[in-house]
Amino acid sequence: MTDCLFCKIIAGEIPGAIVYEDDELVVFRDINPQAPLHVLIVPRRHISTLNDLSPDDDALVGSMMRRAAALAQEHGYGDQGYRAVFNTNRDAGQTVFHIHLHLLAGRGLAWPPG
Ligand code: AMP
Ligand code: ZN
Repeated sequence: MTDCLFCKIIAGEIPGAIVYEDDELVVFRDINPQAPLHVLIVPRRHISTLNDLSPDDDALVGSMMRRAAALAQEHGYGDQGYRAVFNTNRDAGQTVFHIHLHLLAGRGLAWPPG
């Protein structure tokens, strides 16, 4: 998609602090981090929201979740804990309409969120 911020980061048209990439995912640091570790796990393929997933995407979403767990553990947060979350549409505050899994770790994370 031509007018998508995250598609542009994935294409290298806009800089991103990339911490991991493979043939289906790119992970980069959130530009406005809300925790000592705050990265976004993003599929290379443009999907606007969770509402747009199809059964064919089940393995992709599984890979995103497992990548979050791997990165959290690699950064030493596996035992103390972390949060992985998708925001969807207005009430959840989604601002970039290319799905991304937030991984937050390194501080106590309140529940419920605001
Ligand atoms: P959401 O509100 O769930 O759609 O999350 C979008 C996230 O993207 C926010 O946490 C922003 O701080 C982050 N963000 C916006 N622009 C950039 C950028 N250029 N590079 C990295 N993260 C960004
Ligand atoms: Zn996109």
